[in-house]
Amino acid sequence: DSMFSTLSEVPPDEPFAVNGAYKRDSNPQKVNLGIGVYRTSDGNPWPLRVVEEAEKELFEASDVNRHEYLAIQGDADFLSLAADLVFGFGDYEGSSRQVAENMRQRVVSIQTVSGTGANRLGAELLARNIRPGCVWIPNPTWANHYTIWDLAAVPKKEYPYYDSTSKAFDFNGTFRTLSTYAKANDVVILHACAHNPTGADPSQEQWKMLAQLCKEKGIIPFFDLAYQGFASGDAKKDAWAIRHIFHDLNQVEFCVAQSFSKNFGLYGQRVGALHMALSANAPTNVSSNLLANLCHLVRGEYSMAPRGGAEIVKTVLGSKDLRKKWLEDLTTMSERILQMRHALFDELVKLGTPGDWNHITNQIGMFTYIGLTESQVSAITERHHIYMLSSGRISISGLNETNVQYVAKAIDDVVR
Ligand code: PMP
Repeated sequence: DSMFSTLSEVPPDEPFAVNGAYKRDSNPQKVNLGIGVYRTSDGNPWPLRVVEEAEKELFEASDVNRHEYLAIQGDADFLSLAADLVFGFGDYEGSSRQVAENMRQRVVSIQTVSGTGANRLGAELLARNIRPGCVWIPNPTWANHYTIWDLAAVPKKEYPYYDSTSKAFDFNGTFRTLSTYAKANDVVILHACAHNPTGADPSQEQWKMLAQLCKEKGIIPFFDLAYQGFASGDAKKDAWAIRHIFHDLNQVEFCVAQSFSKNFGLYGQRVGALHMALSANAPTNVSSNLLANLCHLVRGEYSMAPRGGAEIVKTVLGSKDLRKKWLEDLTTMSERILQMRHALFDELVKLGTPGDWNHITNQIGMFTYIGLTESQVSAITERHHIYMLSSGRISISGLNETNVQYVAKAIDDVVR
């Protein structure tokens, strides 16, 4: 016997399980629309050109400190560039250095083990210190939100995020649920842009109303920012909701979990940050004590976040020339995804596939809720070797010129 024989069973993580099934399939026509990673039109991973350039620079500099420990908080220059990307302090520098500086003072940042680690650290800090009544999780959401808040032992409730009739964000359902049932000190998870899994986002007007609701009710917004710049190609646009609440409702305190997995293609390097935005009225000693508490949690878990990937991001964001190249790489990725949305839509229209497919081009980012039922998803995998999540979430970046027609015909086959 084993002392572990009584362990409860844990279901496999769906995106990774679907990816494994795809790899085991020997059919040459197989298509992987499961896992959320960028692929080129040849179906290969794409180390960003700018990342390769930064890596070369770092390698050639052969700094003797390059494998030393970071501070517990992480790399200070990386953090300041990362926070600036989210909040846009630099945009205010032109008008007044003091205004920009005051804004910087309102944000406490710590380097994390990518976006997952930022979500986890933020959840742990809130759970231990703020003791939220519950966390409001969008239904549906990135499945790991459930695991993360489970581990933090905060009660979970759902708000209806997606309207499957209009195939869009369910603003009325969300607003009604939160305004009726959410209480002060509850947390609400908000995908800052390119909602995973639906690809459906609130409009700016809707964001304003949600932000105002959080302010009035004392709900704590927790932004998950995993696709900044990757979604629209414009890092500023993708951070609109966060910047709105930070600048226009400057007493609302909130968290941002920032990931560099997608927008730098640094998935396995685990680069990210957690930013805590403080009220403009917060007493001055709050930020140093908040940082000390975050550092305490990190120290006990893993001492500090890894260094390699953050060096790359710091090198790129800190250089005018490389930053420009990064924007070009973001455009390459976001435009290819947009093209594939249009290509899939066009093929389905050409086939006269029953149903309305406009959501494919209205939705944004890496994913779309294609609108297949669970049994249609099983059928498309069995009959056509096309892999996607059972919810019908497809990763658009698995499509390319070679397979998009095949995928459209397969969708047509299973919905008829
Ligand atoms: N949040 C959301 C909504 C995501 O889609 C992802 C990436 N799948 C993440 C967070 C975090 O990913 P990572 O830990 O690789 O940064």
